[in-house]
Amino acid sequence: MATPGGPRPRNFPPNYNPNALANNLQNLQVSQPNQQHSSNLGGNAPRPPNTTPFGQQPPSFAGSRPGPPPPGVFPRGPVPPSVQAQTTLPPNMVSTRPTGPPMGSQPPPPFASRPPPPGALPSSIGGHSALGSRPGPFSSSPLPSGPSAPSYTNTSGPVGNGPPAFASGMIQNGPRFPPGVGSMPRPAVGPPQSPTLLSSGPSSHPPQMRPGFGGLNSGASSTMGQPGPPFSGPPQNMPPPLGSMPFSAPVPGMLQSSGSPYGMQTWPPHPQQMVPPPPTAGPMQQQPMFGMPPPPPLPNQSMALSQTGQSKIDPNQIPRLAPSSTVILHETRQENQANPPPPATSDYIVKDTGNCSPRYMRCTINQIPCTVDLLSTSAMQLALLVQPLALSHPSEEPIQVVDFGESGPVRCSRCKGYINPFMKFIDQGRRFICNLCGFTDETPRDYHCNLGPDGRRRDAYERPELCRGTVEFVASKEYMVRDPMPAVFFFLIDVSMNAIQTGATAAACSAINQVIADLPDGPQTMVGIATFDSTVHFYSLKRALQQPLMLIVPDIQDVYTPLQSDVIVQLAECRQHLEILLESIPSMFQNNRTADSAFGAAVKAAFLSMKSTGGKLLVFQSVLPSVGIGSLSSREAEGRSNASAGEKEALKLLQPVDKTLKTMAIEFAEYQVCVDLFITTQTYVDIASLSVVPRTTGGQVYYYYPFSALCDSAKLYNDLRWNVTRPQGFEAVMRVRCSQGIQVQEYSGNFCKRIPTDVDLPAIDCDKTIMVSLKHDDKLQEGSECAFQCALLYTTVYGQRRIRVSTLSLSCTNTLSNMFRSADLDTQFACILKQAANEIPSAPPAQVRDQATNVCINILFAYRKFCATVSSNGQLILPEALRLLPLYALALLKSNGLRSDGRLDDRSFWINHVSPLPTPLVIPLVYPRMIAIHDLEEKASDDSVIPTTIPLLSENLTDEGIYLLENGEDCLIYVASSVDPNILQQMFGISSVEEISNQFILQQYDNSLSKKLNAIVNEIRRQRSSYLRLRLCRKGDSSGMLFFSYMVEDKTPSGLSYVEFLVHIHRLIQTKMA
Ligand SMILES: [Zn+2]
Repeated sequence: MATPGGPRPRNFPPNYNPNALANNLQNLQVSQPNQQHSSNLGGNAPRPPNTTPFGQQPPSFAGSRPGPPPPGVFPRGPVPPSVQAQTTLPPNMVSTRPTGPPMGSQPPPPFASRPPPPGALPSSIGGHSALGSRPGPFSSSPLPSGPSAPSYTNTSGPVGNGPPAFASGMIQNGPRFPPGVGSMPRPAVGPPQSPTLLSSGPSSHPPQMRPGFGGLNSGASSTMGQPGPPFSGPPQNMPPPLGSMPFSAPVPGMLQSSGSPYGMQTWPPHPQQMVPPPPTAGPMQQQPMFGMPPPPPLPNQSMALSQTGQSKIDPNQIPRLAPSSTVILHETRQENQANPPPPATSDYIVKDTGNCSPRYMRCTINQIPCTVDLLSTSAMQLALLVQPLALSHPSEEPIQVVDFGESGPVRCSRCKGYINPFMKFIDQGRRFICNLCGFTDETPRDYHCNLGPDGRRRDAYERPELCRGTVEFVASKEYMVRDPMPAVFFFLIDVSMNAIQTGATAAACSAINQVIADLPDGPQTMVGIATFDSTVHFYSLKRALQQPLMLIVPDIQDVYTPLQSDVIVQLAECRQHLEILLESIPSMFQNNRTADSAFGAAVKAAFLSMKSTGGKLLVFQSVLPSVGIGSLSSREAEGRSNASAGEKEALKLLQPVDKTLKTMAIEFAEYQVCVDLFITTQTYVDIASLSVVPRTTGGQVYYYYPFSALCDSAKLYNDLRWNVTRPQGFEAVMRVRCSQGIQVQEYSGNFCKRIPTDVDLPAIDCDKTIMVSLKHDDKLQEGSECAFQCALLYTTVYGQRRIRVSTLSLSCTNTLSNMFRSADLDTQFACILKQAANEIPSAPPAQVRDQATNVCINILFAYRKFCATVSSNGQLILPEALRLLPLYALALLKSNGLRSDGRLDDRSFWINHVSPLPTPLVIPLVYPRMIAIHDLEEKASDDSVIPTTIPLLSENLTDEGIYLLENGEDCLIYVASSVDPNILQQMFGISSVEEISNQFILQQYDNSLSKKLNAIVNEIRRQRSSYLRLRLCRKGDSSGMLFFSYMVEDKTPSGLSYVEFLVHIHRLIQTKMA
């Protein structure tokens, strides 16, 4: 433990701020991968700034978008303190604060704290200057930027222990939600701009507001009262834009007769648009049926699919995604109640009014069942998806940083929960009741404040920790067992024969060489580099040396590492050496005939050199590890030749071959070393075995197969750049606490777990999500609230120790229909997907598919049986909130991971990709977004860069069309057989489909069609934080087959069509009913 009570430097070094980053990125120029011909290797020639690798055209970044995928990039150099939303609270010198979990076990590295930058200590709360400086979309209402404007001084809030409710007019600061915002176009590419607010007439764009701006009933009725037909606009088979009919209740007479594809369908409110309903007497509620709308619109709407003719479901009734370009404004609490979040896949801006943003934590159900019986009756699962460092929307208020000084944040002395808006102060503020464990604590003397007439502390609106769902506390010495670690980046590069000959080594060196410029600046950034084939080669980067010195480690069974101080050096000291070295490596090894790879030994040796600090180990690997510790065999070939061995043997190939790498990985995690694997290969590399290392250490696998230096180098560079520049933290520990009655059952994701309650994360970044399944251990009280609190203790890249605390408080219910009404489809499906991925290595594919189907059926059955009163057997009744569950379930059954015919490594990669996948990316992974791009010229310039999505049904594809499909990882462009050659020429520079090659690089030509296409791809990259692997596809070859394999609504030899699947589900539900 550090010395308690020692002088605490009140330093506020430039901490990264995701919000600031998200803005900054818009200003960054794209740098292209550099030319790296072997002919000019080895020299010290300056890098040509904007040439392209391997003669390829520059990736299609134009303008000032952050070329690479990243939607946010670390600012290089200190962030001006004014950009920070830092809050200084009066130091509370209570020395008896409980201590946090112990961190790490290392001796302190020589790493001193820095003096505070001038002006880093605002004398009051809020950091309004930060708000004022952000180009929010609502710049029309400038925010006060005075240094001491109190944030939320209104004390007339509601009584109770909930957070303040923000009635309109109460908000003194912060972005205001302008009334009547209908839609907000996102800035696509180009310099930062204030998105234009389109003033939309109520007749064409109903406002996308959360309740409070109009509850369900008022919303529904106003929509119904509107002219402007919700059922006439959308073209055939296209879902209507969300904004056009957000809460239409069934319209009498229109449903059966309109003949439009939506005529039969109700589009009841989105979950987030529903006001928590008045308590209902029981589960029985009238179901609105088509053609027979219930007298008053009830909050518990469902949708029913009636069957026509021979028990066929009318395809026009089928529920489909209703994508929208409208930005949803979401307040996390309203009227002292949790406000169910917008769909994870939608575009929204959050105002934290007491609960954390759904970006950081979402629950599968937004009302918590009081009993375990009720939960099991619903067949839904109770789980949280936690993404503690998620990127925020640039228009959102930054997370406020709170410094309690040496005493550290106020916590419950029993459960160690952190102070949050739901802790109830009593006894004139002298004591407080923990909302997690119920314990009553003394208020620390320095933290005392009197209560107002509303029963809340008078300072509740001035202290972020008392009115915000997410805050970041400055960690006191008690949270450190050593000084915060430096930011160490160690690059380990495969230089075996194969890697050299495929261009993988050159691509890796080129990418690293460019990325070095993007690493966080400052004395705490350190780098190291090593290469490996059948031995490991370290390089001394000491400035004193004339040139980098190679240090070979020949023993690959019992590895050691050279002197650490030579190998890992401050970036500022070795930048030049490093550049020379990276330019030289491909030529140094160009004649390498060593085919063997000592991957395990190399990783271990690199780890040994990082052991005293921890850090990120980035490994570029091209072949199956064949020698030394952790070597592997080509199990895939054995599996093929042993095909008769049965399913059990086949499954083994999706599991790690032995425990060697796992044991190593656990040791890495103990010493805070995180491993990311960049696999640039043309062969089987046994990802099932290798991936254990990144999964255990908080890292991830990147997979480039079959690797092409021509096509993949740009992606490799962009992936690496985003990896090192995205918001992230080191040496982290995370714990989720729950209110009494609920406890954490299990965590799932990429981390190491040593004790049951915490997960250890050597590194964590904005893209990593952890699934937290929950269970009851007691009854909850109806009318009370159940809270979840995620605390992440981590070190920023600038060496600050922080605790990010997100709290979500949800109401408890005894009513099944409330649960269904508040079900969160995206979160529930994300859990189903992640559980399926976890199952794949241990159960036959058919069994995993059945399990996923059954989860879906059991939920729908529970709803049918207990919530639907209409007993028409001919109807499939879906709860409104989960109406797309069957579609997603079907898509999951047809996904790469659950197809038994896929390549082993592809399936293993899919499993690993899913494990930390953020909720917003889960849906597109199984149900990709498809758009038509041949008619971009004809499309009206509406709000969105990206055209309307088309359902994944091959009958929607025409012979004259070009279609783009993306799932967040891959982007396929399908060119049909009779496309206008002019369009082909303008978009791709080819004159016929026959010229399509496997090696496709998207280029931007000087015509508007090409520019529009590039703008679309760039926007998708921005949205997905991923560069996307682009491929051009045509009918009649493997590329076309790949494209059509994503048409998940089609009937296939091995799979049902969407309509058939609905019928199938309906039958199974009927069987269970009988
Ligand atoms: Zn407690």
